[in-house]
Amino acid sequence: MTMPKQASYAEHLVKFHASYNPVPSGCWEWKKSTFLSGYGAIRWEGKAELAHRVSWLIHTGSIASLWVLHRCDNRRCVNPQHLFLGTGADNNRDMFQKNRWKKKKDQSGEHNPWSKLTQVQAEEIRSIYASGGVSMKKLGKRFGVSNNAICMIVNRRTYAS
Ligand SMILES: [Zn+2]
Repeated sequence: MTMPKQASYAEHLVKFHASYNPVPSGCWEWKKSTFLSGYGAIRWEGKAELAHRVSWLIHTGSIASLWVLHRCDNRRCVNPQHLFLGTGADNNRDMFQKNRWKKKKDQSGEHNPWSKLTQVQAEEIRSIYASGGVSMKKLGKRFGVSNNAICMIVNRRTYAS
């Protein structure tokens, strides 16, 4: 009997490349599970990661400190040639130009048209709340959103990815 071992990088790679379908548009469409936001999800080093960020890591060899964005507007796409680095502001501008905010089906996280928070702020809220001592009410005041919004974020009902 052997003990379960940590998957090696090579095994991760095999798993990654078995998880998408190249389609005629040139996109590599993620065929495994996705986040609520519609982005591909992959288990990477023990946690759920965005598949297109992992693709960036695999193909460039560096972890993106900035946002990994899509040229092709296909969130499930993990083709590194369709990805580029940008800031959160680029992402917002990009979304605005593409009128994504009009689409009803995608109202999660910062793509929610009522949302005032960025993904980074949502992560910050979670970590502040997790470290204790700050009420949801106080966090709401600090970030300019309702207690309810904070509650949703803390409980990961929004900004899931
Ligand atoms: Zn694509």
